[in-house]
Amino acid sequence: MRPEFAEYLTRPVPRYTSYPTAPHFQDSIDAETYASWLGALDNAEPLSLYLHVPFCSKVCWYCGCNMKLAARYSTVSDYVDTLLREVELVADRLPSRFNVSHLHWGGGTPTTLLPDDLARVMDAVSERFEIVGDAELAIESDPRTLTEEMISRIGKIGFNRASFGVQEFDPKVQATINRVQPPDMVRAAVEGLRGVGVSAINFDLIYGLPHQTVETLSETIGICANMRPDRLALFGYAHVPWVAKRQRMIRNEDLPGAAERFEQASTAAADILAYGYRQIGMDHFALPDDPLALATAKGLLRRNFQGYTTDQATTLIGLGATSIGRLPQGYVQNGADTGAWARAINQGRLPIGKGYELIAEDRLRAAVIEALMCYGEADLDQIARQQNAEAGWAEETCSKAQEIVPSGIAVFEGQKVLLAEGAEPLVRLVASAFDSHLHRSESRHSVAV
Ligand code: SF4
Repeated sequence: MRPEFAEYLTRPVPRYTSYPTAPHFQDSIDAETYASWLGALDNAEPLSLYLHVPFCSKVCWYCGCNMKLAARYSTVSDYVDTLLREVELVADRLPSRFNVSHLHWGGGTPTTLLPDDLARVMDAVSERFEIVGDAELAIESDPRTLTEEMISRIGKIGFNRASFGVQEFDPKVQATINRVQPPDMVRAAVEGLRGVGVSAINFDLIYGLPHQTVETLSETIGICANMRPDRLALFGYAHVPWVAKRQRMIRNEDLPGAAERFEQASTAAADILAYGYRQIGMDHFALPDDPLALATAKGLLRRNFQGYTTDQATTLIGLGATSIGRLPQGYVQNGADTGAWARAINQGRLPIGKGYELIAEDRLRAAVIEALMCYGEADLDQIARQQNAEAGWAEETCSKAQEIVPSGIAVFEGQKVLLAEGAEPLVRLVASAFDSHLHRSESRHSVAV
C-alpha cells in the first residue's frame, strides 16, 4: 500500500451499481410513470429480468441485505403467489411479448422456495416472455440449505449459472458470522449443480470479517481455486450496525483495521490472479474463457445492480419486494415492505416505491462512472461526443472533478481520467468525484476499501 493512500481508506463512498445511486431515488416516480415507461419500450430490444426473494432460512450476522427469516413456509408461498401476479401485472403493461436475454434470481436466498414454487414462477415467466435460447439463467443459492431435489429441479428448469456466498472457510470466522459451511458442503453443492448441467459457478468472498487475516483468506482462496468456480467476487465487509441491526452481533474489536483490510484485499486479489483468473473491474475475477472475461477484453463489460455483467440489455425489469429496475427512461424500485408490496399488487397496482427519471446530465455522468468502475479510466471527450453534450461539458466536468479527487489517486490527461498505478482499490472514490448527487459528508455508504 502506498502510505499516502491510508487516509482515504475509510471514506464512505457508494458502490455505483447505478448512477444516481438508490438513496437519490424519489417518491415522485410512481406506478403511473412506470406503466408509461413500460408501455413505451421497444420490443426489438431484449430485456433482462431480476426476481427477488427476500427470505433466508438462517441469518448471517454480517448481512446488510433487506432479508427476512423464513420461519414458516406459508409466508414464502404467499410471496410466490404475489410474485406470480406481479409477472402478470408487468407483462400486461408491455406493448407486446419481449425476448429475455438474462434472468437472475437474487435475494435473500431464492432457493428458500420449494422446487415446485420455483418452477411455477419460471413457468409464469415463460408464458409471458420469450426466454431466448442462449439466455443466461442465474440463481443465487446457499450450500447449507440446497437440497438434492432443488438441485435436480434447477437443472430441469435450465439454469446455467449459480452463485454461492462462500465468504471465508476459516471455522472461527464462520462461527463468528453465524455462517458455518465447511468446504465439503460447498463442494457437494457445486458438484451437484454441475452434474445437472449448471455449467457456470460463481463464488462470493468477503474480506474484513471478524477474526479474518491475510492467511485465513489465502487459505480460503486456495480451497476455492481447487473447486474452480468460473467467477469469484471479492467484497469488503461493510460494518454498519446502525443500519443493519444484526451486525451488532459482531464486535468492533474483532474486526481488522483499515490497513489490514487493504492488505487482505490486495493479497487476496494477487492470490486469485495467480490461480489463473482475470481481474474484472474493481472486485470480480473470471476464468479466461468465462463470458465476463471475454466481454471485458472486447470493451463490453457493464455494471448493474448485480455487479459486473455481460448483460447489454437497456431494460432490466425488477420483480419482487425491493427489486430495482432500469429502463431507458430511468430507475424504478419496488417497496421494501413485503406487506405493502403485496397489497399494491393485490389491488392491481404496480408496487413501485420510488424511482428516478434520468436527465441528460445524469446519463453523461453515469457513462463516466460506469467506465471508471469497469475499466479504471474514462474519456469524457468521447462520452460527450457519443451523447451530444453541450460544448465545454467534458472540460468543465473534468476540471471540477480534478479539484475533488485527492492528489495521487487519479491522473488527468486532457479530458481523460485514469486511476493512478496502485490506486485501483480506490476506484469508487475517484468515481464519486463525478457524482453530482452525492453529499460528501454523508456516511451511509461503506468505506472505500
Ligand atoms: S448473507 Fe445471504 S444467506 Fe446470509 S442472511 Fe444475508 S441474504 Fe441471507
